[in-house]
Amino acid sequence: MIQITMPLNFLGTVYREIRQALIDMGDMFHLLEQPPEVREKPGAKPLEVRGGAVRLEGVEFGYDPERPILKGIDLEVPAGQTVAIVGSSGSGKSTIGRLLFRFYDVTAGRLTIDGQDVRDVGQDSLHAQIGVVPQDTVLFNDTIYYNIAYGKDHATREEVEAAAKAASIHDFITSLPDGYETQVGERGLKLSGGEKQRVGIARTLLKNPPILLLDEATSALDTDTEREIQAELRAMARGRTVITIAHRLSTVADADRIVVLEAGEVVEEGSHEALLARNGRYAQLWDRQAAEEEAA
Ligand code: ADP
Ligand code: MG
Repeated sequence: MIQITMPLNFLGTVYREIRQALIDMGDMFHLLEQPPEVREKPGAKPLEVRGGAVRLEGVEFGYDPERPILKGIDLEVPAGQTVAIVGSSGSGKSTIGRLLFRFYDVTAGRLTIDGQDVRDVGQDSLHAQIGVVPQDTVLFNDTIYYNIAYGKDHATREEVEAAAKAASIHDFITSLPDGYETQVGERGLKLSGGEKQRVGIARTLLKNPPILLLDEATSALDTDTEREIQAELRAMARGRTVITIAHRLSTVADADRIVVLEAGEVVEEGSHEALLARNGRYAQLWDRQAAEEEAA
């Protein structure tokens, strides 16, 4: 990330749009690897979000044409609902998020938001309406205030602090000698993984988008902080469409629907209770995690 954030900082505010995309994606979307085929369609209209229903129809995708990653995914996230995607590492969960943000284009099938194919809409409008909390939040070499305020144009001091409080990072910030003016990033104070994650959450709370993508958004937090922030994220999820990707199953047990992905295919879906009763792959993952937590 150093290579990209440093020149962007030099170039200044002209690159605000690009940086917005960068910050939203964090490390999960490797911007430098963006393939040239993802192009804005000439005359593309802005995405019009009504309820924010997300739909994948027969989606196939591979980073390398020789190696398919998603093998025909059908997935529906009704407007205002929360759908969790779970599955072992490498099963393709984050890839679905990258396609939603149109970081890559599907090789077959389609992905729509309120019936509009993401390939047909203006990319700025797409990025403006999806808030992403990635596993790894990228910080700018700037103040911590700037890093949170980035979520929203013309954010007020009150809004920034309210978002920081909701993300359980305000007290930490005010304990620093320079408070919100503390320089962070490569050339400033190095924040821990959990602190960076909370900055990312504050930024997204401030952005307040109609569609939310949480990709292991609380994975770097300890259990108590995770519980606190889960409550905020749950409040933010109300009335919004949320796709939440999780490794820790206990954090998604209350989702409207859980989809289990395995090697690029949906192998099970249903509520937590229904999936446990089914005694299949989800139940197996659940039992394994329960045993691990007990051992720890
Ligand atoms: P998950 O989020 O479920 O752990 P990912 O969607 O990140 O899985 O990755 C699915 C598969 O795609 C993995 O095998 C991973 O190695 C591969 N992959 C992910 N990103 C890239 C990339 N930029 N280039 C090539 N392969 C990738
Ligand atoms: Mg992932």
